[in-house]
Amino acid sequence: MKKPKYYCERCGAEVRKDARVCPRCGRFFSSVKCPRCGYVGASDDFAAGCPVCGYADVANAAPDPLKSLPPAAPPPPWWAYPLATAAVLALVLLLVRSLR
Ligand SMILES: [Zn+2]
Ligand SMILES: [Zn+2]
Repeated sequence: MKKPKYYCERCGAEVRKDARVCPRCGRFFSSVKCPRCGYVGASDDFAAGCPVCGYADVANAAPDPLKSLPPAAPPPPWWAYPLATAAVLALVLLLVRSLR
């Protein structure tokens, strides 16, 4: 997978992924501290929970404002589609019967 690049939100300079401060304009980037083990890292590090202890609520407590897309909801399981279709068909059949 290609590694994403990181840019300063104020001046646009490219910064290292783990940079705490912009080398050009000195802007401090938001960092997240794990309440369980005390690890401090970029919010990206906590995307899948604390990289040290696995604590998962950190990412939710401090969402990355730069991320544009929320995590996509998992697709329904394959059997949900025929099941939903069958349910709708049954409903329609019941309606048609009740009308007669
Ligand atoms: Zn900057
Ligand atoms: Zn932790």
